[in-house]
Amino acid sequence: MKTIKFKANGADIAELEAERDAMKPWATLGRGCLIESRVNGCGDVDGVTLQDAAIDLGLLEYVTVDKPCGDRCQCADYYGPDEWPTRCLRLSALGKEMP
Ligand SMILES: [Zn+2]
Repeated sequence: MKTIKFKANGADIAELEAERDAMKPWATLGRGCLIESRVNGCGDVDGVTLQDAAIDLGLLEYVTVDKPCGDRCQCADYYGPDEWPTRCLRLSALGKEMP
């Protein structure tokens, strides 16, 4: 059976749909931040609330590490010297695929 590819302004519809689907968790996270800010009288968005939402959306994930993972990671500052191995929160594969 022949597959019919639809195009919109020269772009493949399937590719556009895949890009839209990849953006959906980020859009949901942004919407959640806006709602959180408005609930707080247009105030700051709580970092833990934002982090938990990103985990729920699959954008961040915990990875077990045996040692501090680098200069840009907060796990070295957050955990004491006797708390290794520990879990470090990182962008998931989904989180890294932002189009
Ligand atoms: Zn780390």
